[in-house]
Amino acid sequence: MLKIAVADEKEKYELGELAKMFLPQSRFEMSFEEGFAEGADLVVPKDGTKNDRKRVLYRYLSDLTGQSLDWGILTGVRPGKLYNDLFRAKGREEAERELLEDYYLSSEKLALLRSVHDMQEELSYDRDPSACGVYVGIPFCPTRCSYCSFTSNKITEKAAKAYLDALFVEISAVCDIMKDKGLYAESVYIGGGTPTSLDGPGFERLLSEVSDHFITERCREFSVEAGRPDTISREKLELIRRYGAGRISINPQSMKQHTLDLIGRSHTPDEILSAFGVAESVGIPVINADLITGLPEEEPDDFRKSLDTIIGLDPENITVHTLSVKKGSRLIEGDAEYNYRYADTVRKMLSYASEALTAAGYRPYYLYRQKHMAGNFENVGWAKPGTASLYNVRIMEDDQSIIAMGAGAMTKFFYPAENRLERIPNVSNYEIYIERINDMIQRKKDGIK
Ligand code: SF4
Repeated sequence: MLKIAVADEKEKYELGELAKMFLPQSRFEMSFEEGFAEGADLVVPKDGTKNDRKRVLYRYLSDLTGQSLDWGILTGVRPGKLYNDLFRAKGREEAERELLEDYYLSSEKLALLRSVHDMQEELSYDRDPSACGVYVGIPFCPTRCSYCSFTSNKITEKAAKAYLDALFVEISAVCDIMKDKGLYAESVYIGGGTPTSLDGPGFERLLSEVSDHFITERCREFSVEAGRPDTISREKLELIRRYGAGRISINPQSMKQHTLDLIGRSHTPDEILSAFGVAESVGIPVINADLITGLPEEEPDDFRKSLDTIIGLDPENITVHTLSVKKGSRLIEGDAEYNYRYADTVRKMLSYASEALTAAGYRPYYLYRQKHMAGNFENVGWAKPGTASLYNVRIMEDDQSIIAMGAGAMTKFFYPAENRLERIPNVSNYEIYIERINDMIQRKKDGIK
């Protein structure tokens, strides 16, 4: 067991996250307690800045394991925000020098950040403080994927009905709060879970409530996650069009049947193709497709075939995720070191994605990282010119309030004068959410200033 002594509890968390990118938690011990430094393999010095101490730890673990990390000492989820902040403060040359030399970023990741930054610069948007993103969550899916750690429950008719009744109370109250405070929805996103797992009448009620309360002439974007291809029907896609949503996301994840079976998705690659066909014939203007690198038993060639098939369908957006196996997912229960073993495979997959998507006319426009990602890589949204999602960009910038409704939804209220976000969470368990709906509303009344 490797012993690493650090200065205090606060830094133990961040340095621990960096150490976990090199080694599974079971292989090292980190402590700030007195006496621990004696006999420790590494004592991270107290002097200097936090980044100095991260560099000490990085160099030590890099020498020990023979590995380097593509994202260097960065442990946060939004490297794009750091690039943008440094760019604004110091200009491109100095920002990029710092990222390479002080943060130890690889040149590939720096190039990715640069492309994302440049694409976002072209997306001119208004920084009006009364413009908000609005999120509505449906915590149900037809089955649970093996890697899922979200708020997702197997759908039943009774549960869905009770949930929608409570959700509509919250939607109506939030709409009143927003009007009262002079806020409006600039973009609206219905996500989950899988909203299209609702039955036809329930799904129509949802669209109608969201549209009546938030879609005004000032709303620039309305998206619905159609997620699982086995929940998509012509009837639901026509409803999406009728209620004015211009964007959907269909999430194949992989086009290999064996993988879909392994991860617990109850659909076939043919159903994925037919969902795209119906969406196109219904005339949805922007379709996003999600794929995941690092899925169990997949080789780079499997991912290549899935991506090539999806590119052949010509969706406007393709999002390439890296599998994030978190506690609470069935996958990690069987294999605590999954993320470490997939690093090389994922690197090859991402490198192919970058080449193939660029050649097909897509450009990366937003990216974020999550904890416990295979190889500690990233998720990247790629878009054809003129089709980038405003909601996705603004949520990554953390410079806008996101008012979120539903079980597990996290409202982030932005205070521009202090450049600060305040979080207002809803409870994750949907049954408790239904019971405590008045508390959820009260939290927003108190938190939205
Ligand atoms: S579709 Fe998404 S939310 Fe639903 S079970 Fe799968 S990973 Fe979880």
